[in-house]
Amino acid sequence: MMNENALRVRAEKVLVGGVTSAWNNFEIFGAKHFSGATGAHIKDIDGKEYIDYCMGWGSLFMGHQPQFIREAFDHAFNIGFGFQYETEYSIKLAELIIEIVPCAEKVRFANSGTEATQFAIRMARSITGREKIIKFEGHFHGVHDYLLYSMDTSSRLGKKLESGAFESIPGSSGIPGFIKDVTITLPYNDINALEQVLEYYKGEIAGIIMEPICLASAVILPDKEFINFIREACNQFGILLIFDEVMSGFRENIGGAQKTLDVIPDIATFGKVLGCGMSIAAIAGKTQYMDVLAPIGPSVASGTNTGRLLTMMGSYYALSYLKNHQECYEKLRKLSKRFDDSATEILTRNGIKGVIQSYGGRTVIHFGTDNPIHNFRDTVTTWDKKFHLKCYEKTMANGLYAFLLPLLVCPEPLCITPSHTFEDIDQTLNIFEDIIKQSK
Ligand code: PMP
Repeated sequence: MMNENALRVRAEKVLVGGVTSAWNNFEIFGAKHFSGATGAHIKDIDGKEYIDYCMGWGSLFMGHQPQFIREAFDHAFNIGFGFQYETEYSIKLAELIIEIVPCAEKVRFANSGTEATQFAIRMARSITGREKIIKFEGHFHGVHDYLLYSMDTSSRLGKKLESGAFESIPGSSGIPGFIKDVTITLPYNDINALEQVLEYYKGEIAGIIMEPICLASAVILPDKEFINFIREACNQFGILLIFDEVMSGFRENIGGAQKTLDVIPDIATFGKVLGCGMSIAAIAGKTQYMDVLAPIGPSVASGTNTGRLLTMMGSYYALSYLKNHQECYEKLRKLSKRFDDSATEILTRNGIKGVIQSYGGRTVIHFGTDNPIHNFRDTVTTWDKKFHLKCYEKTMANGLYAFLLPLLVCPEPLCITPSHTFEDIDQTLNIFEDIIKQSK
């Protein structure tokens, strides 16, 4: 009989660090092995059950075994399953995205958010003939060399430079040093810094990429003036505005953060909820920009795994389901509100300094301050990691997975989805209060 300990021994012999993805290697607990999952519940190899707050890093929006994906698989297998030739289904999926997403006039598919953001900034460079890309501190855009800067795996906060930008700090070893000359990192929600940098690098900036609502480190909405300023500045300076909606897309409403904010980017990237578990991503945007891609234009964004029938079918069924069942967003709003309100009360009742911030069920519990978190530096400098870890170490034994997961310099927000139940939330809140009481 295989149990956790036996599997770990085997895994460590053959998989680097015993894992397929280092993200599964949680602080304190290491990696757990699972034997089953339904809805928002998972069962580990030793038979212990958990309420899942990772949910495939936010991708399994409709739970672990959505019926529509099963149907999509059946349908795909009746036709051919894995081929990547053109079919009606990629057209249907693109049509749906265009109907739903405000900026979308044309679509190109990819396999991961990392690929999509890499292609998106390449497109900005191709379109403008410029090389520099602005990103914001604490925003995550995948693990390729060009944007893995100044986020939760960076070793320190960058110093302020003469340009008004922050020094870009790599989030991995092995990234060539010259890339920070073209990846300009700015503080989020800071119009002055942006104004200064745009002036300093006038005529050199190809694109601004951002999580329209920052869901990677804390959960931070942009100030209205800030996001409006970005849109206007991009128009004025001929800069491509790229919303990375890999996390925000289809999560709070069917149209994405661009609908929430009422600000339309030039192009946007999607992933996660788009596939509800399928390995898919998309770039969608205005025709004049999308047409820079081959075979119309000179910019390359294709691959062996792109557009496989199974993926197209699964994603088409997923997005159709969400479009036709928008009551799931209403349910999520209620679940999320119940969690946020009660968790805030728990903090107050127990005299714990902390704030809860959420969007579309993506929820950060930030210990250390009662003030709203406004940017990455607020997150890093105010976080009470010691208390956080004390609470976190009690979560797994109490049946909560990826709840209060700590990253290096900030907490990972948890994911509530429409597949969670009100009982899950109430049970979690009770455990949360117990954990807090025990950790004080
Ligand atoms: N962009 C954002 C906003 C993300 O949250 C993520 C993943 N967490 C990515 C890009 C990268 O996506 P993937 O993991 O599919 O490469």
